[in-house]
Amino acid sequence: MAKNTPFENYLKNLKKAGALLSLTDGQFKAFQESENIFEKEIEFELDSGEKKKVNAYRVQHNSARGPYKGGIRFHQDANLDEVKSLASLMSLKCDVVDITLGGGKGGVEIDPKGLSASEIERLSRAYFRAGAEAGIFGVDRDIPAPDVNTTPQIMGYMLDEYEKVIGKKEPGVITGKPLEIGGSRGRSYSTSQGGFYVFEYLAKEYFAGKVPADITVAIQGFGNAGAEFARVLHSHGYRVVAVSDSRGGAHCENMCDISALENTKREKGSVAVESAGISIITNEELLALEVDVLVLAALDGVVHADNAGAVRAKMILELANGPVTVEADDILQKKGIVVVPDILANAGGVSVSYFEWVQNRSGDQWEEDYVNNRLQKMMEKSAQDVVDLAKKHASSLRMGAFVLGMSRIMRAMELRGRK
Ligand code: NAD
Repeated sequence: MAKNTPFENYLKNLKKAGALLSLTDGQFKAFQESENIFEKEIEFELDSGEKKKVNAYRVQHNSARGPYKGGIRFHQDANLDEVKSLASLMSLKCDVVDITLGGGKGGVEIDPKGLSASEIERLSRAYFRAGAEAGIFGVDRDIPAPDVNTTPQIMGYMLDEYEKVIGKKEPGVITGKPLEIGGSRGRSYSTSQGGFYVFEYLAKEYFAGKVPADITVAIQGFGNAGAEFARVLHSHGYRVVAVSDSRGGAHCENMCDISALENTKREKGSVAVESAGISIITNEELLALEVDVLVLAALDGVVHADNAGAVRAKMILELANGPVTVEADDILQKKGIVVVPDILANAGGVSVSYFEWVQNRSGDQWEEDYVNNRLQKMMEKSAQDVVDLAKKHASSLRMGAFVLGMSRIMRAMELRGRK
């Protein structure tokens, strides 16, 4: 079956949620279209002295609730369709957790693995300068953050370049920065921490009567989000029984030793290494394991119409953006498998980015406990709001989350007199 593009996937979900909300054509259009699209071929210098040109994007979806917010990814497959879908989902994500920001996303079509550290710095500066000179970014306009293949260090270069363009300090123009230049405590692990708060809160309902040691988990993706999530689960006594990366998976006899797997990944480049108590499995086999929870923390579109029927988990938690297609959603719902959607499950990252922006604007630095306590309250409240709306509409949690996010944006548009 031909795969939907990420934006087609978003539109299909939008239509389903739009039907629940009885949207007018004008309201539907406001969610379908982005307010502003910046698209430019940018140029940077390679170490050889040669100039390289790459396609760069920034999509600003909806600002009814506040300035645009969303990451910048460097990836060879980045394209306008993908960036548009991610910007639209960012609008909804900000509103699921009820922060006063809108949705944006950036992308540069390049494989950074082939670049040296100094080439990455020059690329990062070129991207941000192009956007700054075009008036795209700003502390009250559009506040980027890290995403796939972009790091706190890259945020540092981008901030520095921005301040050169505007001629003054403005740390709140970008989040996910290193602590020393205005980053927030707790930001580096906030996506997984937020996902964990949502998971524990929902587990009380969906795994009532079970203790953590009885709950088995398989995790696809052992990068920033997946490995950190594995660590948090493990430290709270949950039984992580399998993890994978792009080269394959490790299936552990009883439960995985997460720090041993991190060492294996560091030393051998992958978790898929056979040893006592560990057998190697493929990613497709991991998706079909009989576990309580399947965490998707790698790529979009990995659970689709052709393999959703094989999933045997009771719950799927989407730490990645868009890992379950619309067609797969229908199949999973019929099988009674609960899908905790990305715009709720991975919203911890943007929530702590929002905290960072607030701290920068007031010149304050919050304690780590304070950040995590606030995050926990936000994530639990959002999870409950999503569950309530899903029950009200007899729908999936994804539709509950879409309806929640869309309702808040519609209300903000109405209050601004926008039709
Ligand atoms: P990452 O690059 O650090 O990790 C990705 C992991 O997926 C790696 O272990 C990689 O080996 C694995 N992988 C790649 N291709 C795979 C394949 N074909 N099969 C199985 N595994 C594969 O990236 P990340 O930052 O952890 O992000 C992962 C996902 O989570 C992305 O969708 C990202 O947008 C989303 N996300 C991340 C954050 C964050 O804070 N890191 C926040 C929100 C959303």
